[in-house]
Amino acid sequence: MPKLIILGTSNAIPDEHHENTHMALLGENRTVLIDCVNNPIVRLRQAGLDINRLTDLVLTHFHPDHVSGVPSLLMNSWLLGRRKPLDIYGLSYTLERIEKMMDFYDWATWPDFFQVNFHPVQEIEMAPVLEGDEFRIYSSLVHHIVPTIGLRVEFKKTDRVLAYSCDTEPCQEVIKLASGADVLIHEATGASYGHSSAAQAGTIARQAEVGRLYLIHYQTGDFDAHSLLPQAEQTFNGPVSLAEDFMELTF
Ligand SMILES: [Zn+2]
Repeated sequence: MPKLIILGTSNAIPDEHHENTHMALLGENRTVLIDCVNNPIVRLRQAGLDINRLTDLVLTHFHPDHVSGVPSLLMNSWLLGRRKPLDIYGLSYTLERIEKMMDFYDWATWPDFFQVNFHPVQEIEMAPVLEGDEFRIYSSLVHHIVPTIGLRVEFKKTDRVLAYSCDTEPCQEVIKLASGADVLIHEATGASYGHSSAAQAGTIARQAEVGRLYLIHYQTGDFDAHSLLPQAEQTFNGPVSLAEDFMELTF
């Protein structure tokens, strides 16, 4: 059964129990990391995942709390003897900056470095990102501070659907990505430029008619994130939960 492992749930400022928001999608033949933060091997190991099992990396946008781990991921994979290529997907805006970031590390001179293939995704609604035996991933531009994609994952064998808003203000694009989804994972940073509140996440979940809402990318530290649940429940009648680090959802 394909599953999603939540590897981090915090907004840009993590704490000892919540890493920056990122997750891994596991199928039989593919393991897709969605965003890549700090030194990702630590969270991957804690979740029981071998870094060199990764086949694909989807990058939602070029902010440090979503892509800071790319150089460490590439270097650690290389040092651990990776030979097979890694496929990286994202907007051209994001991928160009990742390449420049790696150029600062002079990655062209790393001996026997494995192949990295960049796959720019189209800036259209429901752009196809990648397709494996078990799932298809689509992306749409959402409304954040820099060009950002939200995702829809369709699981072929079970017809189940997962949607992830990524960092965004409430927008029609997420409603379409999440339309009829079994699970919507929506950010709840708080109502501000480029972000959403828990109540707004609930409204999007209601409008998209999803089965279940998980809040993510929330404030951590001394903040009581459980106080967000009743706010989302005021605008969405279905079940609402906080996404937690290492939570596993099967599809
Ligand atoms: Zn963020």
